[in-house]
Amino acid sequence: MSKVANYLQEHLLGEVMTSVDAKNYFSTDNSIFTIQPSMIVYPRNESDIRKTARFTWQLAERGRVIPITARGAGTDQTGAAIGNGIILVFSAHMNKILEFDSKSGLAIIEPGINFSKLQETLHTHGRFLPSMPSSGEYSTLGGAVANNSSGSDLIKYGELRGYIQGLRVILANGEVIETARINKKELNKKLGLTTFEGEIYRQIDTLIEEEISIINQSKLNIIKNNAGFDLMDIKRKDGSFDLTPLFVGSQGTLGIISEITLSTENYNPETNLLMATCDNIDQIQSIVNELNQLSELPSAIEIIDGNLLREAYSINSSVFKGLIESPFPAFCLFIELDIVSDRILKKTTKKIKKILEKNSINVSVEYELANQQKMWKLRDISSYLLSHNYGTSKALPVIGDGVVPYSKVNELLVGVYKIFERTKLTPAIWGHIGSGMVHLQPRLDVNQVGDRQKIFKLMDEYYALILSLGGSISGEGNDGRLRAPYLASMYSTELMTVFEKVKIIFDPYGTLNPGVKFGTSIEDLKQILRQGYSLNHIYNYLPRN
Ligand SMILES: Cc1cc2nc3c(=O)[nH]c(=O)nc-3n(C[C@H](O)[C@H](O)[C@H](O)COP(=O)(O)OP(=O)(O)OC[C@H]3O[C@@H](n4cnc5c(N)ncnc54)[C@H](O)[C@@H]3O)c2cc1C
Repeated sequence: MSKVANYLQEHLLGEVMTSVDAKNYFSTDNSIFTIQPSMIVYPRNESDIRKTARFTWQLAERGRVIPITARGAGTDQTGAAIGNGIILVFSAHMNKILEFDSKSGLAIIEPGINFSKLQETLHTHGRFLPSMPSSGEYSTLGGAVANNSSGSDLIKYGELRGYIQGLRVILANGEVIETARINKKELNKKLGLTTFEGEIYRQIDTLIEEEISIINQSKLNIIKNNAGFDLMDIKRKDGSFDLTPLFVGSQGTLGIISEITLSTENYNPETNLLMATCDNIDQIQSIVNELNQLSELPSAIEIIDGNLLREAYSINSSVFKGLIESPFPAFCLFIELDIVSDRILKKTTKKIKKILEKNSINVSVEYELANQQKMWKLRDISSYLLSHNYGTSKALPVIGDGVVPYSKVNELLVGVYKIFERTKLTPAIWGHIGSGMVHLQPRLDVNQVGDRQKIFKLMDEYYALILSLGGSISGEGNDGRLRAPYLASMYSTELMTVFEKVKIIFDPYGTLNPGVKFGTSIEDLKQILRQGYSLNHIYNYLPRN
């Protein structure tokens, strides 16, 4: 063990590990990148995190920077859960529900809890937390909060950020703060503190006051934007102030979350699911436009395309039985409704059926849960693609996390198909079309020079397309290392300067997940590409996307 690891092990309740095995395991997440950490720390409590942060701060003051990368389950696809310093693993010990009030639906939870386990517990109380990512069975709440993750219900319930009421956060120097919306008087108290917390409040408050018109440039006409930092809802017109929205989606680059206070929704397992097939992109656009105008929004508007259907059919045709047959349509849509009132559910289902019948070939409605589950299995056939080996190629998570205004999904689809055509790759599309998001994971071999070049060509073209449509490069996923080099093409130099100032205010020595969101170039990415890509962290579960 190194001196640093020894020191930490002496002072922490949790375990410190430096074995080659452990370092290898934590040298990858679900991105195409790899970085070897110097040690792994499994904090048992908040004090362990504070001690680790204080120690790295003190070393950094003396010129030695050891980064800290917080980690949940490491399913991040942008290289944000790897780093060359300390990996702070939350899933081992800090994974409990600390409080839950079934009346208000408010809960206080540790970040390492498995998302779907939390969801199951909430269900038993008639509640649920929207925005569970499709990786929820094998990822943590802390990772979801730090990534501002989302799922298919984004269209109805909005982003996870909206459910996070407050946080306990360990700052870069080991101080702990509690965030929540505070009034003007409480803000004044914070501004008067002589601690690092006070310094942060003063500097962020001044930055927002001085740069509000630049900050407002980050507002786009899209459902969700994870690119950069969310500074827009910190200070409201009534003078109230809350740092919570800033920490949500900041990928551990501003502080380390030790507790999450969140609100939940009433859980209604009674849903209707409609499936429709379409043969052209204009039909998809008309349907998406009309569905987005409904007073009762669907809880999911999902798409898979004919390429994916053909591809998945050749791998495993069993889930297609009774649902869809070859020759496959160009697109298949899935629309879910989770409305509590039976009368409104029936009325809305009828309305949606009419919209679909106007614009598509076949429409079916499923009321029974068991049959709906079969339909969802068809929606989830992208999992076959993700886990399949195409010779030495794999479906790589390098593009496909962007979001555009829903009124431009036709242009998004046309643009994406053209990119695949130009790069001579077979497309396969799935995703949350109603929210302006589609996923695509091109099948490439990270070890082949030609394919490595294609990765960067695809990224250049795809992110340019997303930006030309007024979208965000980081819609569902976050920036991480993967999209850090592209952030400056999305925002003005002035706004980038504001983001960089925020980072320095919270992390003056660069100990908090450096290289994530900022400070990574395309050249840097080329240096950390993995030899071979696999989903080896998640095969205990069915990979879903
Ligand atoms: C097959 C597949 C499907 C996916 N589907 C979706 C999807 O539907 N929607 C979606 O949004 N994403 C999706 N993802 C991406 C990823 O799974 C999610 O973002 C997930 O929420 C990350 O959780 P995690 O526990 O794995 O976090 P990790 O990967 O461990 O970490 C993610 C980020 O959070 C930070 N972090 C973790 N814990 C803390 C903490 N306590 N304090 C501060 N920072 C912290 C990490 O440093 C890192 O920056 C998918 C990934 C895969 C592989």
